[in-house]
Amino acid sequence: MTVKPEQNELDPAALTAPTAAMVKQLEAEKRDLQVARNRALFIDQDSGLLNRRGLAQALKMRAPLDPTGGSTLALISVQLSREQLHNLSADPATHHHVMNQLSQRLGRLCGGELIGAWSDSLLVGITSGFNWAALNDEHHVRLDAIEHALTDSIDVRGVRMRPQLRIGLARPGLDGQLPGQWVSHAQSVALNLAQQQLPLTEALKDSLHATAKRRKLIETGLARALEQNELTLMFQPVQDCATGSICSVEALVRWSHPDLGLIYPVEFVNTAEDSGLTEALGQWVLQHSLSALRSLHEAGFALRCSVNCSPRQFDNPLFAEHCLSSLSVAGLRAGWLEVEVTESSALGNAAATIQSLQRLREAGCSVAMDDFGTGYATLNYLKNLPMDVLKVDRSFVTDIAHNPHSQKIVQAIIDLAHALGLTVQAEGVESTEQMDALLAMGCDRMQGYLLSRPLPLQALLDWLVDQPMRKA
Ligand code: C2E
Ligand code: MG
Ligand code: MG
Repeated sequence: MTVKPEQNELDPAALTAPTAAMVKQLEAEKRDLQVARNRALFIDQDSGLLNRRGLAQALKMRAPLDPTGGSTLALISVQLSREQLHNLSADPATHHHVMNQLSQRLGRLCGGELIGAWSDSLLVGITSGFNWAALNDEHHVRLDAIEHALTDSIDVRGVRMRPQLRIGLARPGLDGQLPGQWVSHAQSVALNLAQQQLPLTEALKDSLHATAKRRKLIETGLARALEQNELTLMFQPVQDCATGSICSVEALVRWSHPDLGLIYPVEFVNTAEDSGLTEALGQWVLQHSLSALRSLHEAGFALRCSVNCSPRQFDNPLFAEHCLSSLSVAGLRAGWLEVEVTESSALGNAAATIQSLQRLREAGCSVAMDDFGTGYATLNYLKNLPMDVLKVDRSFVTDIAHNPHSQKIVQAIIDLAHALGLTVQAEGVESTEQMDALLAMGCDRMQGYLLSRPLPLQALLDWLVDQPMRKA
């Protein structure tokens, strides 16, 4: 039987129009899906408010935009008392209604600025125009007004209910460097208030005093710390997923302060920047990391070491040469050093950063982008910054085993990185569930408490003895 050609062949002309339309529709659907995914990832489904992740991202971006350098920003935390939360736990609809009312009040207090739900009982808002420098009577009035506005009774099915709240305040950028630290600070102010029955103003004065004192000790002590060896390094191992062997360690700096005890880098890395000590700190970390790496190699552990670099270090056009000469002093090949940068490294002096990174890569070092997914213009930097490794931020790993949106985002990051020829390293892997999910997605390297916490050099050497490893 002969089949008429027109019955069997597709007419390309007839196809063009529907195909183009279909492609357009598919693209629109893909965009909608992306918007829906982002929404689910950053917005609390019940309240429609930003969730913890959305808030953390938005707060991180909002704080540096303050024209007064953060001096008039205030973060307000509002939490239902434990007792009231317990009573409401039996009645989710009322709980929802109360939180909804409180979020509206907080929104009004913050003048339409950023607000969100840090948890199902803790709301957080940010307000500007707060004169922290003068905690005087005028502020007493303002703080009283905040308390009154929030604790006014709420209509619950015709019955008036007075919310019992713990209200706290913090100064973004001063009470810690990260949104999580500001929220913790505000909560500790609130706790202080509840325990000591202090008026808000008094609790704030106390905490302002303590924070200012701590900050001063950190600012004035850092130069001495560098000179007098108060700094130490911890090393966190990284595992190669394909072989299960340990392939590298990340150097993480600590400060044993004579009065304040152990201080983590989030508290002093930025201070170093403000005091012009970034370069000295960077040099200290590099030299001590390489000297420790040398000891590891001598003990038979052929590992790479990654070193965190502050964006300001790239202002020095000799940065790459300093790294290479430190490697040669330590008697190590360039391939044993991995330089970690963040997306913000390219915000300032992008051309100089790119040049330094290119030079390091030509010499054999590798470059990793740290905290991927938490910055400003992620995809743009992926295109422009010369690099080898992409480190998926812990915030995406935390709920990867249970949140399908996080899974899709991490899978997309891994696919994109692989398509660009990059190695993917997951940060903050704490459970076997997270590890299994990441392995199934094709992640190349992992780091986190599940494998090991950061360790001092000697403890690392002891730990490594029992680990699968390529011998030097
Ligand atoms: P990072 O480079 O992203 O380092 C990872 C941080 O996560 C480290 O905190 C590490 O102790 C912590 N971590 C590792 N695994 C887990 C986990 O499974 N769960 C949890 N919850 N946390 C985990 P650390 O040491 O406090 O460092 C914080 C940040 O300070 C670093 O983030 C890095 O940006 C910066 N930093 C650390 N050392 C240096 C340094 O020598 N120079 C510079 N410029 N920055 C540094
Ligand atoms: Mg790092
Ligand atoms: Mg990181």
